[in-house]
Amino acid sequence: MIDLDTITTNHSDTLVAGGGVIGLACAYYLARAGRSVRIIEKESMGAGASHGNCGLIFVSDLPPLCAPGAIGHELFRILRGTSPLYVKPRADPALAFWLLRFAANCNQRHLNFAVKARDAILRVSGELFNDLFADEDLACDFERRGVLMVYTDPAAMQAYQKTNRLLESFGLAATFHDRRAIRQIEPALNDRVCGGWHHRADSHLRPELLMAAWTRAARDRGVRIDEGCRLEGFETRNGMVTAAHTNTGRFTADQFILAAGAWTPAIGHQLGVRIPVQPGKGYSITMDRPTACPGIPCYLVERNVVVTPWQSGFRIGGTLEFSGFNDQLNQRRLGNLEESAALYLKTPLGRRVIERWTGLRPMSVDDLPIIDRMPDLQNLYIATGHGMLGLSTATGTGRLICDLILGRRPPFDPEPFSLKRFA
Ligand SMILES: Cc1cc2nc3c(=O)[nH]c(=O)nc-3n(C[C@H](O)[C@H](O)[C@H](O)COP(=O)(O)OP(=O)(O)OC[C@H]3O[C@@H](n4cnc5c(N)ncnc54)[C@H](O)[C@@H]3O)c2cc1C
Repeated sequence: MIDLDTITTNHSDTLVAGGGVIGLACAYYLARAGRSVRIIEKESMGAGASHGNCGLIFVSDLPPLCAPGAIGHELFRILRGTSPLYVKPRADPALAFWLLRFAANCNQRHLNFAVKARDAILRVSGELFNDLFADEDLACDFERRGVLMVYTDPAAMQAYQKTNRLLESFGLAATFHDRRAIRQIEPALNDRVCGGWHHRADSHLRPELLMAAWTRAARDRGVRIDEGCRLEGFETRNGMVTAAHTNTGRFTADQFILAAGAWTPAIGHQLGVRIPVQPGKGYSITMDRPTACPGIPCYLVERNVVVTPWQSGFRIGGTLEFSGFNDQLNQRRLGNLEESAALYLKTPLGRRVIERWTGLRPMSVDDLPIIDRMPDLQNLYIATGHGMLGLSTATGTGRLICDLILGRRPPFDPEPFSLKRFA
C-alpha cells in the first residue's frame, strides 16, 4: 500500500541510505511489513558492487577468507604471479589496521566460529530467495544448477576434501568428479581440467537484472526511491538520529539504515564509530555466450575466478584489489580474467563484449557482515561488510534488519554480526 504521506513529505518510517542489493533487501522486507520506506542512493539503484558481480547465490561458501594459512598461501601465489590479490603500496593507516586485524583472524577458532555464522545467514537467505522468487515476478535468469569448483592442479583438488568434510557436517558436501566425469557434466571444460567438486545447493542469477526487477517490485510495494541523492551526514539529538542531510535536502524518519556498501565507514567516522571495512575492488567482463558455453557456473579455483553462464549472456569475474576508492579499469587485471578463463574453458570468450566493469566489495576484517544497531544511536542500523557474499546474504540481511527494527524474533542469531565484536 502506498503511503500518501511519504510521497508528499520528506518523512518516512524508515530511511535507507544506499541502493545496492543490501539496502534494497532491507527496504523490501520493511515495506512488506507495512512500513513506509525511502531509499536514498547517490547514483542509481544497483550502481555499486551489486551490478556486475558474478551472480552466485553461493550458500555452500562457508569458509571465510581469513582462514589458517591464508596469508602464507596468498604470499606464495603473489610470488608465483598467480594471486588474484593486489594491495597497492601506500601510506593508509586504515588499510594497515584492516590488514592487521584480518591477519589476526586467520586462525582455527575464528574459522570454526565464522563457518557456523555464515551457514546461519546463508541458509536463511537461500530459503528467503526461494520465497522471494515465488512471491514476485523477478525475471533475472535465475537457475538452480549448483556451482562447479574446477581444478587444473590434482593436489589442490584432493586438498579440498578437508573442506568438503567440514561442509558435510552442514549437509552441504559437494560431489567429486574425476577428469572424465567432470567433462560429462560440463563439456565446456578443456583438457587441462583434472576434475572438480559439484556443489548442488547453490544457484545463480544475473545481478543487474535482479536489481532492476526487485527495485520495481519494491516500488510497487510503496518504497520511495530517490536516485542522485547523496547522504552527507546525520543530524542527531539525545542518542537518536533526527534527520539525514543530503545534497537534495533534509529527510526525517523514525529509523535510519546505513547500507552504503564500501562507502559506509566514512559516514560511521562522522558519528565517531569505527567500521572496519575496506573497499575490495573486483572486476568482471560480460559478453555474449561463448560457442561452448558452460551450463553450470564454474569456480576456477587456482585463479579464484568465476565464470557464470546465463540464458542471456556470460560473465567472467574475480580479483581482489586493495587500492582505495577508484573506478579505474585496470587492463592488466581484466586481461588476467580472460587468461584465467582460457586455462579452463574450450572457448573462454563470447564474440561480443557487452561490459567491462569494476566494483568495490565492502570487505570486513573477519569476513562476516556487520548487521546491527549503532551502539549509541538507538534508531540507526547498519548493514555492510558483506564482502564476497553480498548477493548470497542479501535476503537474510534484509530480513534481520527488518526484525531488529520491528522487535521481532530474528531468523538466526544476530550476535556474530554485531558491532560489539570490534569493541
Ligand atoms: C567481481 C565481483 C564478483 C562478486 N560476485 C559475487 C557473487 O557471485 N555472489 C555474491 O553473493 N556476491 C558477490 N560479490 C559481492 C557483492 O557484489 C557485494 O557483496 C554486494 O553487492 C554488496 O552490496 P551492498 O549493497 O552492500 O553494496 P553496493 O552494491 O556497493 O551498494 C552500496 C550503494 O550505496 C551507495 N552509496 C554510497 N555512499 C552513499 C551515500 N553517501 N549516499 C547515498 N548512497 C550512497 C552506492 O552508490 C551504492 O549504490 C561480488 C563482488 C564483486 C566486485
